[in-house]
Amino acid sequence: MDAPLIGVLAIQGGFEAHARMLRGLGARVREVRVARDLGGLEGFVIPGGESTTISLGIEREGLAEPIRELIARGTPVLGSCAGLIMLDRDHLGVMDIRARRNAFGRQISSFEVDLPVRGIDGGPVRAVFIRAPWIEEHGAEVEILAEVDGHAVAARERHMLAVAFHSELTDDDRLHRLLLGAIEREGARA
Ligand code: GLN
Repeated sequence: MDAPLIGVLAIQGGFEAHARMLRGLGARVREVRVARDLGGLEGFVIPGGESTTISLGIEREGLAEPIRELIARGTPVLGSCAGLIMLDRDHLGVMDIRARRNAFGRQISSFEVDLPVRGIDGGPVRAVFIRAPWIEEHGAEVEILAEVDGHAVAARERHMLAVAFHSELTDDDRLHRLLLGAIEREGARA
C-alpha cells in the first residue's frame, strides 16, 4: 500500500510539529492553505493555535464547506486543541461536541500530564495542555476517550478524533498512529 496522503491545515498554529510526526510515521504530508489543497487527501489534521485566527482563515479562504465535504465523505480527521474547537458545533459543526475555550483558566493555563486514553495501548499518553479547551457537552454518538479532573479532553465520533492536548510536541506518536489506523481501515473499506 502507498503511504497515505494526509493534509495538515496550515493557516496558523502548530502545523509543523504534526507534519513532522506524520512524516516520521511514513505518511506523505501536504500543508493545506486553500481549497484545492484538499484534493485527494486520505486524512486531515487541524492543529492547535489560536482558534479565532484559524476560524477567520477558514472563512477567508472559503475552506469551511470543502472541509465539511471532505469529512462527510468519511476521511479520518484529527483535531488538536484549537483544532478540537474547529470541529465542534459552533465552528465547522462536524462533531456533536461543544468546546469551552481556555477552559482550564489562567492560573494553570499550561501543564503536562500522563493521560490514559481509551483506545491507546501501552500506558498513558504524554499530553501537553496549552490554554486548552475541554468538551463541555456532547451528543450520544460521541465516545469520551480521556478526562482530566472530570472534564472530557479527548473524544471520538465515527472517523473523527478530537483532543484538547498536544502530543505532537512530545515523542509519543500513538495518537497519530490511531489516525493512520483509521485511514488504513477507511482505505480497506473503500
Ligand atoms: N486557547 C486557544 C484558543 O482558544 C487554543 C490553544 C491551543 O490550541 N494550544 O484558540
